[in-house]
Amino acid sequence: MIPYGKQAISEQDIDAVVEVLKSPWLTQGPKVPEFETVISQYCQVQYATATNSATSALHIACLALNVGHNDIVWTSPNSFVASSNCALYCGAKVDFIDIDPATGNLSITELKLRLKQAQQTNTLPKVLIPVHFAGQCCDMKAISELSQIYGFKIIEDASHAVGGKYLNSPVGHCQYSDICVFSFHPVKIITSAEGGMVLTNDPTINAKLKMFRSHGVTAQQDLLHNEADGPWYYEQQELGFNYRMTDLHAALGIQQVKRLDEFVEKRNQLAQTYTKLFAQSEEITPLSQQAGVYNAYHLYVVRINDTSPDLHRRLVEELRAQGIFCHVHYIPIYLQPYYQSLGFKPGHCPNAEEYYHSAITLPLFPELSASDQEYIATTLVDTLITLKQQPQ
Ligand SMILES: *Cc1c(COP(=O)(O)O)cnc(C)c1O
Repeated sequence: MIPYGKQAISEQDIDAVVEVLKSPWLTQGPKVPEFETVISQYCQVQYATATNSATSALHIACLALNVGHNDIVWTSPNSFVASSNCALYCGAKVDFIDIDPATGNLSITELKLRLKQAQQTNTLPKVLIPVHFAGQCCDMKAISELSQIYGFKIIEDASHAVGGKYLNSPVGHCQYSDICVFSFHPVKIITSAEGGMVLTNDPTINAKLKMFRSHGVTAQQDLLHNEADGPWYYEQQELGFNYRMTDLHAALGIQQVKRLDEFVEKRNQLAQTYTKLFAQSEEITPLSQQAGVYNAYHLYVVRINDTSPDLHRRLVEELRAQGIFCHVHYIPIYLQPYYQSLGFKPGHCPNAEEYYHSAITLPLFPELSASDQEYIATTLVDTLITLKQQPQ
């Protein structure tokens, strides 16, 4: 079976982790701050905070922006559930902005419309979480301009976009956002096994992130509320969590960053090959690419043009039966039973739903061979044509 994603671990990666195992520090040693420095330099951003996942990164990002009860957070329905769960953890209300089905990213036109309506009903969001779907950065300049007009904060969920660029700057530089979050889960572009990172240029936000990551506790002299009892003294000032990354994970992450550019280049090459292979097809349309964006290509997504009922499901089943583990990204978040129990109804974001019934994620990872790629493309087109001729 050809998987849809796969990590690339080298001997050096393994050695780096083993070295930490033999060192005095398994966690809270030098590797975590080193990983943070490596990422902040790569992204040309002021501050980085490593966490044990992007999920916890998103949670403390919301907390650092004071998201709480009575607040509203908006995100894209075409994402993993973590993009909106983070707001629910804080007791906030969530809503979803429909997507542009050509890119899978949230639609700026729709966003403008919804902001105008929300202003009239006094229900503007405190925070917007744009998701850089499949690795293609959203139109951050437009989003940033809207944030100035309507006064919301921005957390980029860049879980898919590590190593990508927007207007020649690395994703994560936070020029058009308050906070940016990365994931280092093995299916993503680089991995620390589990892990995430929160980036910001704001020193106040950074201090809050560091505190929420570790129990809401600080021992830093200049941050203490009270006089220290002695050299052992620390204070809990917030209700935080243990969301820390270990040095073992950070050591793997540091190694992987060294190959990040190479990985993203390879993903771009493979993506271009797919796009060429589908150029003549009347059955299949790859996601469209926006000018000014260097896609990190976490995912390669195509849409099938024929939306006959069941064709999409039969195609995925048939491809898996033929050894191609393709996937579908994403089930619109609000269609999940949990979100339905919160009152969301089918039909809330029609574009995201229509997109969901036509999108297929094809295998894409640095070690995907040319012959496998050719097999995937040919099998996809041939299977689709065959299925269309068969009665259900
Ligand atoms: C993977 C992913 C997450 C969660 O990342 P973890 O590191 O697994 O917690 C959040 N948002 C998006 C868009 C993702 O793809």
